[in-house]
Amino acid sequence: MIPESEFENILAKKYMRTEIMPHAFCPGCGLGIIERIILMAFEELGWDEWEKTVFVSGIGCSGWVPLYFRRDAAHTLHGRALAFATGVKLARPGLSIIVPMGDGDAVAIGGNHFIHAARRNIDVTAIIMNNSIYGMTGGQFSPLTGHDKKATTAPFGSIDHPFDTVRLAMGAGASFVARTTTYHVTSMKNILKKAIMHKGFSVVEILSQCPTYFGTKNKMGNAVDMLNNYKTHTVPIGSKKKKENPDLIERGIFVQEEREEYCAEYEMLVKKVKKE
Ligand code: SF4
Repeated sequence: MIPESEFENILAKKYMRTEIMPHAFCPGCGLGIIERIILMAFEELGWDEWEKTVFVSGIGCSGWVPLYFRRDAAHTLHGRALAFATGVKLARPGLSIIVPMGDGDAVAIGGNHFIHAARRNIDVTAIIMNNSIYGMTGGQFSPLTGHDKKATTAPFGSIDHPFDTVRLAMGAGASFVARTTTYHVTSMKNILKKAIMHKGFSVVEILSQCPTYFGTKNKMGNAVDMLNNYKTHTVPIGSKKKKENPDLIERGIFVQEEREEYCAEYEMLVKKVKKE
């Protein structure tokens, strides 16, 4: 068996632009964990899957995630990653498209693109790294910050109620919807593999710690404390504990259904029209 330290080295050299390291993330940030688990998912899916993958990101700390991968990536405008991804997929349906986004990027400025990508069921994997705050721009509150939670722009606590990303994705028609956390790394890897291979719009919400802003402003301790918080405040879908404590957050796969994929349906329509 390859020792853990060497495994890290092999994984990094194979998939990452080690020449631009060190990365820009703060110590303890959940984004580094997610990067590693994305690569572990591809190590299991195989090189062919990796070679046909294109990453499209928006702006924010999350927008930097694909830049360290040795793959083609488009670093686009804030909130517009899914619009660019839709264009790439329609132009080259054979490619596999992954869109890593933060909560602000996905459901604030990008909220409109998000619901329409979901209803179209275009074959794109949207990874929403929900750290409940705008990290890169200094800790402003986002639509997922939560009632009573503090942020740079909500020093007395936010009076906005948050979206439930999973319910939003389900309501908009996504055909694969899941939630996991940076604590539950094995389940994150398995969910990501399923989402990447799913033919349709896949949404994976990953609760991810931002110790620098959300953690500090809400007195949540250090990165390890925040990870432990995901352990104690989330439960698998259908757990009895959820009935006893409705504040617990469910994680797992909520929707996984086969539906006509957008590009495939469009191709069939073009063929039909050409025959007529
Ligand atoms: S500001 Fe927050 S989300 Fe951004 S890199 Fe630092 S810890 Fe991570």
